[in-house]
Amino acid sequence: MATPRKLAAVRGMNDLLPADAPLWEWFETRVSDWLRSYGYQQIRTPIVETTELFVRGIGEVTDIVEKEMYSFEDKLNGEKLTLRPEFTAGVIRAVVEHNLTYDAPRRVWSIGPLFRHERPQRGRYRQFHQVNVEAVGFAGPDIDAELIVMLARLWKILGIDRVGRVRLELNCLGQADERAKHRTDLIAYLSRHESRLDADARRRLHTNPLRILDTKNPDLAEVVAGAPRITDYLGEASRAHFEGLQSLLHAAGIEFVVNPRMVRGLDYYNLTVFEWITDALGAQGTLCGGGRYDPLIERLGGKSTPGIGFGMGIERVIELLRESGTVTASTSTDVYVLHQGGATQTGAFLLAERLRDAGLDVILHAGDASLKSQMKKADASGAEYAVIVGQAEAEAGAAAIKALRATAPSAPFAEQRIVPLADVPDALVDALTVIETE
Ligand code: ATP
Ligand code: MG
Repeated sequence: MATPRKLAAVRGMNDLLPADAPLWEWFETRVSDWLRSYGYQQIRTPIVETTELFVRGIGEVTDIVEKEMYSFEDKLNGEKLTLRPEFTAGVIRAVVEHNLTYDAPRRVWSIGPLFRHERPQRGRYRQFHQVNVEAVGFAGPDIDAELIVMLARLWKILGIDRVGRVRLELNCLGQADERAKHRTDLIAYLSRHESRLDADARRRLHTNPLRILDTKNPDLAEVVAGAPRITDYLGEASRAHFEGLQSLLHAAGIEFVVNPRMVRGLDYYNLTVFEWITDALGAQGTLCGGGRYDPLIERLGGKSTPGIGFGMGIERVIELLRESGTVTASTSTDVYVLHQGGATQTGAFLLAERLRDAGLDVILHAGDASLKSQMKKADASGAEYAVIVGQAEAEAGAAAIKALRATAPSAPFAEQRIVPLADVPDALVDALTVIETE
């Protein structure tokens, strides 16, 4: 029989390997503490939703719905389904379905994988992950400002502000009637310059001309720079909202630039949109994008309720963290337990359980090996202490403890010592407390 061929992961979908997991765990712990400090509660929605949800929620003429969704028909019942390409539609579906805003507004957050059929490259994958935050039922610019201030705090918590500058861009997309006037003028302007547009822009000219403004094609930069700006079309209420947001940001000492070309990809945004961008990651520098989506909830069958949220790309933030080199997250254990097989293996097995009862992280050597080779494994595990349950020690009802990383000769167990079995847990807990307070 031929050797079976090795299988590979799907292109653009990555494994998170044990060497990288500590950094993700470090990030996730900080993120959940940070969200709790602003009163956010977690919500977990399914990875698969009906295709209709995303078509209605995101809008038909968007990159995501036009070409990036993993959609399929469930062969068993013919249902049309899609792997979620973003969080907001599913979260709002759940908020409406369970009537979560019936008595008060809600602050909810999610974390998990999203799927988009894009060309894989640095910072752009087909399965990627986001931290997503939604504030549902809040109409004023105060919550817009809170979301932004909250993100500025996260960059500090993560130490990202020290690596490459993370900058904030803001825009106000106004309301539907304001966008309609702008759209008419924009189409007229772009039509006058149609010969200079690329195929993508020409296709969008009459479907979603706003999107042409955030084209990534540098050849269009000049045309786009001369286009009518949405901010010149805002009525009184929209302007007041935008000014309210800006004055709160000024008060909080947050720097930003207003970018009137920033429209964001999704159809459902109104008023405030924003992005946090870094130049330290090459072309895929947007760490986090968000905006207000007051019309969405009604569009998904709920009663009219305002909302705002953002999605943060975890892969990009992690890459920045890795580059900063400031985080030294690792998963080393406290204790590695060695034995000499037979009765000593049983003794070691039970001792390891007792050490875990005492709150220690323990790796018990599995299988047979010489003490010398086990000692090498103990060292490589990163453990602070080796506990040796050898023949002689076991017969004496004891075990030997040896510090693996002590540098000072006076450190506990810098010299290997025999300790009665019953005293081993306390001896190790005390020794580890000394290390932590050093
Ligand atoms: P882009 O313009 O880069 O395609 P987008 O507007 O499609 O971004 P959003 O839908 O706003 O992105 O998603 C919010 C964040 O999620 C992005 O700022 C980015 O950090 C991350 N993100 C989006 N798509 C991907 C992807 N394919 N791979 C990795 N991260 C992604
Ligand atoms: Mg995109």
